[in-house]
Amino acid sequence: MKKTQYIVSACLLGERCRYDGKDKEHPEIVRSLQNKKYVSVCPELLAGWGSPRPAVQFSGGGASEVVEGKAIIRDNLGRDRTESLTKGINEALRLVRSSDPGEAILKEKSPSCGVMQVYRDGKLTRGEGLFTHRLREKGVRVRSEESFAKEKFPSS
Ligand code: SF4
Repeated sequence: MKKTQYIVSACLLGERCRYDGKDKEHPEIVRSLQNKKYVSVCPELLAGWGSPRPAVQFSGGGASEVVEGKAIIRDNLGRDRTESLTKGINEALRLVRSSDPGEAILKEKSPSCGVMQVYRDGKLTRGEGLFTHRLREKGVRVRSEESFAKEKFPSS
C-alpha cells in the first residue's frame, strides 16, 4: 500500500520561521514523523517575508473572501500583503504537488496555516488560513497540532 505523505508547518518541526522569530516545535509530531514521508513548508517564508516580520491577519473577510478579492491580508503596519502571501502559498503548493500529499498537519490560528481559528480584524475567530483553504480545495485533509493530541498518525 502506498505510504501517506504528510505536509507539515515548518514551525511545528522546530524551524524558527514565525513572525516573532521563534518556532513552535511540537516534539510529539516530530517524533511521530520519524520513518514517515513528509514535506516541511512555511508559506510566509516562501513569500519572502523572512523571520522575524510584522504579523499579518485577515481584514474584511476570511480565506474564501480573500480568494474572491473581497478581503485582504493586512500586516500590523497597515500594509496589504495579500499578493505576496498568495505568491508564497502558490510556491508552497508547487513544492507539495509532486508529493501527492494525503494529509496536512498545520499550525492553528495562523493566517496561512490555521485550521479552525484565525485572527480577523483584531479578533480570534472561526476560520481557516489561506494555505489550509487552498489545500482543502485540492482534497487534502488538514488538521492542526491541537487535534493531533486526540488523533495521532496511523502507524503505517
Ligand atoms: Fe510559517 Fe505556517 Fe508556521 Fe506561520 S504557521 S510560521 S506560515 S509554517
